[in-house]
Amino acid sequence: MFTTELATVSYIGATILFILSLGGLSNQETALRGNLYGMIGMALAVLATVFGPQVTWAGIPWIVVAMLIGGSIGLYAARTVQMTQMPELVALMHSMVGLAAMLVGLSTFIDPEASKGFVGAAKSIHEMEIYIGILIGAVTFSGSIVAFGKLSGRIGGNPLLLPGRHWLNLAGLLVVIYFGGAFMNAHTIADGIMPLAVMTVIALLFGIHMVMAIGGADMPVVVSMLNSYSGWAAAATGFMLSNDLLIVTGALVGSSGAILSYIMCKAMARSFISVIAGGFGTASAAPKPAGDAAQPAGEVTPISATETAELLREAKSVVIVPGYGMAVAQAQHTVYEITKFLRDKGVNIRFGIHPVAGRMPGHMNVLLAEAKVPYDIVFEMDELNDDFPKTDVVMVIGANDIVNPGAQDDPSSPIAGMPVLEVWKAKTSIVMKRSMASGYAGVDNPLFYKENNRMLFGDAKKMLDEVLVVLKS
Ligand code: NDP
Repeated sequence: MFTTELATVSYIGATILFILSLGGLSNQETALRGNLYGMIGMALAVLATVFGPQVTWAGIPWIVVAMLIGGSIGLYAARTVQMTQMPELVALMHSMVGLAAMLVGLSTFIDPEASKGFVGAAKSIHEMEIYIGILIGAVTFSGSIVAFGKLSGRIGGNPLLLPGRHWLNLAGLLVVIYFGGAFMNAHTIADGIMPLAVMTVIALLFGIHMVMAIGGADMPVVVSMLNSYSGWAAAATGFMLSNDLLIVTGALVGSSGAILSYIMCKAMARSFISVIAGGFGTASAAPKPAGDAAQPAGEVTPISATETAELLREAKSVVIVPGYGMAVAQAQHTVYEITKFLRDKGVNIRFGIHPVAGRMPGHMNVLLAEAKVPYDIVFEMDELNDDFPKTDVVMVIGANDIVNPGAQDDPSSPIAGMPVLEVWKAKTSIVMKRSMASGYAGVDNPLFYKENNRMLFGDAKKMLDEVLVVLKS
C-alpha cells in the first residue's frame, strides 16, 4: 500500500512525466520518448491511486475487474482499428471521458458518504463542482458522439442551422443557471436530483446542437476543441473526487487541447473567439455532403503512371503533398519507396504537410513516420509555400481541400480564407485520386482544371506501385 506521503510523491512524479511527455510529443524525433514518459507516468498514477490511501482493500477487486474489462476493450480497439478510423476512435474516447465525468458527478452527489464533512462554504463549493463537472461532462459526451458520427460518415457533413439557434443556446444557458441555483439550495438529495436532471438534459442537447451546427470544413477545430473539453471534464472529475493528479492532468489536456484548437483555427483562418463561443461554420460554410461529385468546371488532363514516372525521373525538385486519400489507400510505404529511389538518384524530394490534412491533427506525420520517411524532408505548409515556383513536380496524393486555390480566389467558398498549399505554382502538379469527387468540405477544386495540372486517376497505392515499377525498370 502507498502511504499518503508516498502517493503524493508518486503524483508529483507522474505530473512531471506527463509534462515531459507533452514536451516530447511536440517533435517527431522525441515523440517515442514522449510516449514512453506518458506510459510510465500513467502506470505510476494508476498504482499510486489503486493502492493509495483513498482506496480500501475491499475496493481493489472491483477496480481490477473494471480495469480488466476496460483494458481488454481498449486493447481490442487499438489492435483492430484501421488508421482511417483513428479520428472516430479518438472522438469516441473523448465521449468516454465526458460520460465518466457525468457518472462520477452523479455518484458523488447521491452517495451520502462522499459529501460527508462538507459544511458551509466547502459544501457549496463541493456542490458547484458536481454541477459544473456534470455540465462539462454532458456537453463533452454528446458533442463527441455527434463528432464520431460526422467523422465516420454516419451523420452528414451539412451544418444543422436551427432558426434562432444562438437564442436557443442562450435560453439553455439561462435555464442551466436558474436550475444551478435550485440545485445549490436543495436540502436533500431527492430535492437536488430534479435540477441536476434538467441541467444534464439541456447540456446533452447543447452538445448535440453545438457539433451538429458545424459544417464539414470546420470539423478539425471541433475535434481539437472536444479534446480540450475532455481535459476539462477530467479536471472537473478530479475536483469531485478530490484527486489532485486528475485535476492537474485534466488541466494539461484541457490547455494543450485549447492550444491545438488555436493552431487549427489559425490553419483554417477561423476566429478563436467565435469558435469557443460556438458560433462558427454557419452562413458561409454550407458544404455539400462529403464525397459528392462536384460539378465539372472545365476539362482535366489525365496522365498515366508511366508518364508520371517519366516526369519524376526528369525532375530535379519534387514535393509530395499527402492527404486523406493516402491514409485510405495505405500508400505511405510505397510513397517511402519512391522517395528513397528518387533521393538516391539525387532528386531534391520533400513533403508538404497541411495542418488539417487527413482527419485528425498530425494524421499525415503519423503515417509518414510509420513508413520511416526521414523527418528532415517533412515540412510544414508555411515552410514550403514559397518554394513551389522553383519546384518541377508536385505529387498530390489523395489530397483535395488542402490544395484548393478556391480558398484564396472564391470568397463564397466554405473554405474561403483557409491557407492552402499553393501547388499550382509548380511547373507541373499531378493529382492522384480515384474520381472527380470532392473532399471533406464538399467543394469543387479549380486546381484540377489548370493547364499545368495532370490527373492520375486510380487508387493511390495501386497507381504508386505502378509508378515505382516503371521508375525501377
Ligand atoms: P480531402 O477530404 O479534401 O480529400 C481527400 C481526397 O482523397 C478525396 O477527394 C478522395 O477523392 C481522395 N481519395 C480517397 N480515397 C482514395 C484512394 N484510395 N486513393 C486515392 N485517392 C483517394 O482531404 P485533405 O487531406 O485534402 O483535406 C482534409 C479535409 O478534412 C479538410 O477539409 C479538413 O478540414 C477536413 N478535416 C480534417 C480534420 C483534421 O483534424 N485534420 C478533421 C476533420 C475534417 P476520390 O474519392 O476521387 O478518390
